Amino acid sequence: MNKAVFLDRDGVINRKGGSYYIWRIEDFILNEGVIDALKIFQEKGYLLIVITNQGGIARGVFSEEDLKRLNEYMIDLLKQHGIKLSAIYYCPHHPDVSLCECRKPGTLLFEKAIKDFDIDVKSSCMIGDSEVDIEAAKKMEIKGILIPVNGNLVDLVVRTGLIS
Ligand SMILES: [Mg+2]
Ligand SMILES: [Zn+2]
Repeated sequence: MNKAVFLDRDGVINRKGGSYYIWRIEDFILNEGVIDALKIFQEKGYLLIVITNQGGIARGVFSEEDLKRLNEYMIDLLKQHGIKLSAIYYCPHHPDVSLCECRKPGTLLFEKAIKDFDIDVKSSCMIGDSEVDIEAAKKMEIKGILIPVNGNLVDLVVRTGLIS
């Protein structure tokens, strides 16, 4: 089995700012400490898996193609720093439009990732900046780590003792 660090995207990996939805490449700015933190997780043998709510698709703010383009950009950007994302799972739905089981705090995307990558939940964790991230993780018996929006991940992982 594998262990994983599940990561929320907006506010964790990249800067969440004034505009609610981030889908343009020029709006995608990595948060401080992200590269170093992800490298440390990777060196410790964790798979890196992003689980993100992208309800702007259902609301017609941006398209699934736009998201796929941004995903590719994020994967390439991290790759340039020697970081491999195993997968990005996203929920394109929004409760204003339709209900689903994949939008966090729903657990469908976690269930999928756990199955796809044979994840041992007990040795994994979820890092998020929203209660829904932690709530979803909790349902899956994954340790949830709530960070401040745009918090420095390196500071955080040292402080929580996730790394020695
Ligand atoms: Mg977030
Ligand atoms: Zn969904």
